[in-house]
Amino acid sequence: MGLLDALFRSSDILGIAEETLEFALESSEAAHPDEYMGFLRGTEATELGLDREGLVITDVLIIPGTESNSVSATVQTSSIPNDVKALGSVHSHPNGVIRPSQADLETFGRGSVHVIIGAPYRRNDWKAFDSQGRRTNLEVIDVDLPDSESFFDFTQADIDEELRG
Ligand SMILES: [Zn+2]
Repeated sequence: MGLLDALFRSSDILGIAEETLEFALESSEAAHPDEYMGFLRGTEATELGLDREGLVITDVLIIPGTESNSVSATVQTSSIPNDVKALGSVHSHPNGVIRPSQADLETFGRGSVHVIIGAPYRRNDWKAFDSQGRRTNLEVIDVDLPDSESFFDFTQADIDEELRG
């Protein structure tokens, strides 16, 4: 048991927020031809206004110091904050093969859901796998994420307003 094992918790995962999935797809495309990698964090469904018990994946945590190239992304575990509760991971396969590699399988045991995104990073160019590397169903949930939306919706008008104030 290492640090990483302690970071992951298993809880009912209802799915991934639409916005979070789109963010991961866009980030993967931006990283191409390098591999993109992050950890998945969740929010209680009730906090998002859903009348369901469980967690919705709402965040992708990029670990500072991740070394990335087109073959693999290596995470420096020493840079992972202690309070991180990751549900799993997300990473891209720039070669477009959406299947866990042997190296992937060796790390999947640490979380309950692992998303692999493949080039060319279209809406359906991803699959979810469980800790054994088996295909698993991950529902895409259309839910409002108040924090990130207010950030992304920040326009030049808002900035001007802020400067005037
Ligand atoms: Zn991989």
